[in-house]
Amino acid sequence: MTEIIDGKIVAEDVVETVKRFTAELSEKHGVQPGLAVVIVGEDPASQVYVSSKGKKAKECGFLSIQHTLPADTSEADLLKLIGQLNADATVHGILVQLPLPDHIDSGKVIQTIAPQKDVDGFSFINVGKLGTGEVDSAFVPCTPAGSMLLIERVRGKDLSGLNAVVVGRSNIVGKPMANLLLAANCTVTVAHSRTKDLPTLARTADILVAAVGRPEMIKGDWVKPGATVIDVGINRIPAPEKGEGKSRLVGDVDFDSAHKAAGAITPVPGGVGPMTIAMLMANTLVSASRAAGVEPPAF
Ligand code: NAP
Repeated sequence: MTEIIDGKIVAEDVVETVKRFTAELSEKHGVQPGLAVVIVGEDPASQVYVSSKGKKAKECGFLSIQHTLPADTSEADLLKLIGQLNADATVHGILVQLPLPDHIDSGKVIQTIAPQKDVDGFSFINVGKLGTGEVDSAFVPCTPAGSMLLIERVRGKDLSGLNAVVVGRSNIVGKPMANLLLAANCTVTVAHSRTKDLPTLARTADILVAAVGRPEMIKGDWVKPGATVIDVGINRIPAPEKGEGKSRLVGDVDFDSAHKAAGAITPVPGGVGPMTIAMLMANTLVSASRAAGVEPPAF
């Protein structure tokens, strides 16, 4: 029987832990975790993401701050705001919603966020910590951190000797995912658009992570029998069967064929997706705990 990994349940577990520790942190130490989200411009998808992050932060008992800036905000003004948030003791996590308008250098903005408040895990300090195996003191980007929790639910924390193949080498998903798997003692291969014979390589994987952005690219016969398959992809494709102009979400894995071979697999939606926002809450709580000198919970 293939296990369908329910990301909603694991994400709820994470959020429940966050809520419990937030209440404790406030009562015993007088510290309320604060998350500041900055959005520039009016991209509708970004607005939806930002509002759901704010809603979840409030649900966790956080101080939730949103800065909505006009699309023509100058880079200097945005950097000034980041500087103010870095200095604000009520703010423990700062997140700048990407993409930013073209006239702003995203890299410069992200590297201006204080590493100890960089709950997205994109600053060089946090990337470097993860890359050198200092996983416990790093902020790990939320999507790979959430994917790793799902893998641990299936395989346990010590993945010694397992072969992992990560398809995709982005800084946001593929590379941090590979580093997490390496830190857990997997033998890791990172594949990308120039990789030769990906199906054969994928079939060596005990743990196969797809972060490509290509709908249903990974087929069932690429999957080693019994493998754990984590589908990070979120792709919207036309669904004429649902009616004219309708669409549906699919992952980077062809679920119908892959789930027959896999030992465990994440669905899309309902797999990795819910984990990302839950891990953002977890990272913010960890940041607030560190600021209060309190041992943060383990996730
Ligand atoms: P990205 O920055 O576009 O990176 C895609 C990676 O896939 C690149 O490394 C690319 O290789 C590789 N690739 C593209 N075509 C390939 C092919 N035919 N064979 C092998 N590798 C190929 O994407 P991303 O930001 O990592 O996101 C990946 C997917 O995850 C997207 O569907 C995105 O929507 C989804 N996502 C989901 C969440 C979530 O919360 N669940 C969060 C973030 C992203 P090159 O480097 O050689 O170009």
